Amino acid sequence: MSRVPASRLRGLPAPTFLLAAAWAALSAAACAAGRPPEMPADLILTNGAVVTEDPARPEARAVALRGGTVAAVGSDDDIARLAGPKTRRIDLGGAMVVPGLIDAHGHVRSLGEELANLDLHGVVRIEEIARMVRERDKALPAGAWITGHGWDQNLWPGKKFPDHRPLTEAAPGRAVWLSRVDGHASWANLKAMEIAGVTRRTPEPPGGKIERDASGDPTGVFVDNAQDLIDKAKPAPTRARIKEWLGMSLQRLAAAGLTEIHDASVDPEDVDAYRELADEGKLPLRVYLMWNGIGKSRIEPLVEQPPFVNYKDRVTLRAVKLMIDGAMGSRGAVFLDDYSDDKGNRGLFVTEPDELERRAEMAMRKGYQVCTHAIGDRGIRLTIDAYEKALAAVKPSDPRPRIEHLQCVARADVARLKPLGIIASMQPSHATSDMYWADDRVGAERGRGLYAWRWVLDSGVIIAAGSDFPVDPEKPLIGLHSAVTRQDLKNWPAGGWHPDQKMTLDEALRAYTAGAAYAAYEEDRKGKIAPGYWADLTVIGRDLRKVPPEEIANAGIELTIVVGAVVNESR
Ligand SMILES: [Zn+2]
Repeated sequence: MSRVPASRLRGLPAPTFLLAAAWAALSAAACAAGRPPEMPADLILTNGAVVTEDPARPEARAVALRGGTVAAVGSDDDIARLAGPKTRRIDLGGAMVVPGLIDAHGHVRSLGEELANLDLHGVVRIEEIARMVRERDKALPAGAWITGHGWDQNLWPGKKFPDHRPLTEAAPGRAVWLSRVDGHASWANLKAMEIAGVTRRTPEPPGGKIERDASGDPTGVFVDNAQDLIDKAKPAPTRARIKEWLGMSLQRLAAAGLTEIHDASVDPEDVDAYRELADEGKLPLRVYLMWNGIGKSRIEPLVEQPPFVNYKDRVTLRAVKLMIDGAMGSRGAVFLDDYSDDKGNRGLFVTEPDELERRAEMAMRKGYQVCTHAIGDRGIRLTIDAYEKALAAVKPSDPRPRIEHLQCVARADVARLKPLGIIASMQPSHATSDMYWADDRVGAERGRGLYAWRWVLDSGVIIAAGSDFPVDPEKPLIGLHSAVTRQDLKNWPAGGWHPDQKMTLDEALRAYTAGAAYAAYEEDRKGKIAPGYWADLTVIGRDLRKVPPEEIANAGIELTIVVGAVVNESR
């Protein structure tokens, strides 16, 4: 919510002739002083608490933007002088201005798909779900499936699994496919089963169950692996659909105050969609893309394509995402020792270490930055080993290898990061989402290295902050709160979880600005508010330096500015 009245956020139209006259006088004065008159600014922000991250001028009151870059930073008077007749002026009323916030690790398309899904969480009547399906049926083009997530039969009278009929009646001509709140079961209508070729003769797949009625006909609910029967019949999305998802997602991200996203794994169809959106002038934010180098498929065809930078001022593709291990929650992260709550289990490699090294080396040879998901202490160690060997073999000039997540690091490995130039791409809110069970997984000793921001920063390593949305909420204010407090939004636990690893507010802000900009090779253009830097700014409702930490998450985003344009405005 905004605390700045609408009147101050709107441009302040003054009689144009007066401004023009003042401008002419000013220009004349400048000429008289022997200086050429400066072009007027496009947008000026005054009366703000501007945190620049620029050591030459750490704080200011006002900023002028022109032609997509920062024209000047200074006092209200200095900046007001740069207004011309067409300049938009915004009085910030003391709101905080920071360099445009960046999420260094998120999944734009997944968030969009989630937004396009019917949200069925907490719906207590099947009739309501049928109504939602009927509405969506009217809105979608022919052939598109209605998908949704979050139903829970325990909220309904009778608490029984549903059958296909309410969905079949709501959308007889279109497939409907809705997953349960835990993802372990999904609910189809007749059309979906028909398209998938599921009949009473379809056998139960291993690890799955088809719910059936007394006569053996599938009822419409598919449990665990049986969900694949319907999933695999889903049509590949069209280009238009992908663009729609990206667009919805980016609008949501702009509202969260983000000016740039590092999209942590894209396929060629996503890159094409991004480029088309950029061509059409429909990309509100900058995106920094990582090829999807995770799966079994070869990454050669991807890295054979030359990287590109700043296409249409919006799109960069110069990184590859790799993945060595799984996640801690499902005990897939790879550890040197057994999981403390699962003896004999040390996790699973998603990519074998020698293959990871091969891919890292190949990507570096082709001029790509390598970003590897590594979570367990052994996964992290082997990733550092792989980087060490690949760097020695390729000797790239400015490789900036990244470790994504770095969730449970061995103390001894922290000192290896900086000499190799490794960037820590970490997600502050993962700590406060996982703290309820993470200690159980790893025990007290290894637990000291959980989300070890302090160790990382104190060793001189740069943190690029993100959220991994839609895994965690996309809001950087939530991440900043987690980084500073290591508490959840109810301020639990008192004093914070492993409080010795907290970041300061300054460090956390830098991780979302200068740190993330460095991780994208943009530190000379982004991450600071200084003349010549990109005109990417975030305006936060309250000065975070002055609010109690427990209020950071609710400080509100008022403006998101990218390439000098206001892409989100909430009042
Ligand atoms: Zn991710």
